[in-house]
Amino acid sequence: MNCLICGALAVRVDAGSKYEERACPECGHYRITCKVLELMKAHQWHFDVGLTQRWIAEKGIGTIPTIDSHQAGRLIDV
Ligand SMILES: [Zn+2]
Repeated sequence: MNCLICGALAVRVDAGSKYEERACPECGHYRITCKVLELMKAHQWHFDVGLTQRWIAEKGIGTIPTIDSHQAGRLIDV
């Protein structure tokens, strides 16, 4: 599986049907809602890799950060 943010080889973690979860050596451990992934695919949006990695590093202390549609709007590179 590839990382949904940077595209590097990442470990897919089973997080149920509402989320995609990855443990990426570059980005860290995170979740993205399936709704966000559908939106991004539909609009061909991409995450700002540097910005998203910093956000995960800040949020990912003791918890798995989840990128929902609200948060994705701040991390998308347009
Ligand atoms: Zn990554």
